[in-house]
Amino acid sequence: MKIAMIGTGYVGLVSGVCFSDFGHEVICVDKDPAKIEKLENGQVPIYEPGLEQLMAKNVEAGRLSFTLDLTHALQDADAVFIAVGTPTRRGDGHADLTYVMAAAEEIARTADHYIVVVTKSTVPLGTNRQVKQTIRKTNPNLDFDVASNPEFLREGAAIDDFMKPDRVVVGVQNERAAEVMAEIYRPLYLREFPIVTTDLESAEMIKYAANAFLATKITFINEIAALCERVGGDVKEVARGIGLDGRIGNKFLHAGPGYGGSCFPKDTKALARIGQEHAMPMQITETVIKVNEEIKRRMIDKLLDLSGGSFNGKTIAMLGVTFKPNTDDMRDAPSLTIVPALVGAGAKVRVVDPQGRNEGDALLPGVVWFDDPYKAAQNADLLVVLTEWNEFRALDLKKVAKKMATPRMADLRNIYSAKDAKRAGFDAYDSIGRPAFH
Ligand code: NAD
Repeated sequence: MKIAMIGTGYVGLVSGVCFSDFGHEVICVDKDPAKIEKLENGQVPIYEPGLEQLMAKNVEAGRLSFTLDLTHALQDADAVFIAVGTPTRRGDGHADLTYVMAAAEEIARTADHYIVVVTKSTVPLGTNRQVKQTIRKTNPNLDFDVASNPEFLREGAAIDDFMKPDRVVVGVQNERAAEVMAEIYRPLYLREFPIVTTDLESAEMIKYAANAFLATKITFINEIAALCERVGGDVKEVARGIGLDGRIGNKFLHAGPGYGGSCFPKDTKALARIGQEHAMPMQITETVIKVNEEIKRRMIDKLLDLSGGSFNGKTIAMLGVTFKPNTDDMRDAPSLTIVPALVGAGAKVRVVDPQGRNEGDALLPGVVWFDDPYKAAQNADLLVVLTEWNEFRALDLKKVAKKMATPRMADLRNIYSAKDAKRAGFDAYDSIGRPAFH
């Protein structure tokens, strides 16, 4: 199969590289010349473990290339994937479809043979039909079909998720498009990964329903954690106890500082918006959005408590600012709520993050960047674990405590315990939904 991939972001680039590794011929297109230049030089513009090596292997094999030129990419292509951003539209929470529709128009103006136009971006119900109309209007003579193929990969584990998915979802309107999609995903089909072939609308809904469900699950355990803090109990024990129930499952039950990232915040908002537009309010999702905001704000209160009621003049060492480990993505990270609040209240914030600086420099003004957690802890008043990078999971806590002016820790990812902290000489320790001491 010959595939064109529009958009070389987290989803487009990983998908393009993995499709080429399946043996397909893939050309990735982006309109950002800096990205294409980097890619042509063998550099990956984002941080995603394993991607650079897999990309190099497939470029070397002659199956993968990059271009700014859509005409070149569409030559003889069997399918073109749209993997551009669908951020929250300013003002109303709706998914912004400007980039998707622009890509659809460009395809319509460029394609000259039968092609399947596949939307990989997360898009609201009805968008694939809209893509079809746009293409038909722009180029009435083009022979094409549309397909919806939402992506479920997680940043930080994207290659594995793409190569060994829980399922692949494909929405189509006819057999012809279904056959092309089946051929593209044949390597996964042969390895017996489930392929859900359905209609366009169901495919679009599956993606939003999945993300809203996961956001609900994480928010649920975060709320239980908040209650544990008032009434006692350890949320880690609670999560284990409920997670062993097969109907509940143990994934997505790690209490933390509130969900963030490039998908959950925008996709929950978009689903809520779709509900409002169709007079069918998504009340659970709307509540999840509200509770998640409260959880993020509650983190600031927790840090304030540990700082003795004022941030002014305090030195705070912040470990991790990306929305989760193993990515450089800062979109909607809890750090973007928490860090500015501390800086604004007069704290001197030091940040350590293995990959966050590239994006974080512009997003977190007023902080000082450190490479080493121990150096950041020197004379600090408070240590905050905000993202559970492996580098932060096995710190020599005794050494950290000794270096600090006042050894106090806010472990917002529950990677240590009150016992660990006490033994290491900390004066105060707090985490999420577990025993603390002040
Ligand atoms: P991204 O912002 O990282 O990348 C989008 C890329 O598309 C950019 O490089 C941009 O320059 C390019 N682009 C935009 N318009 C273009 C055009 N007309 N022609 C060529 N290139 C164009 O976005 P992302 O994180 O990869 O997300 C893409 C979609 O996938 C979104 O809808 C998102 O919701 C969905 N998704 C993302 C993830 C994730 O973990 N990031 C997971 C599943 C689904």
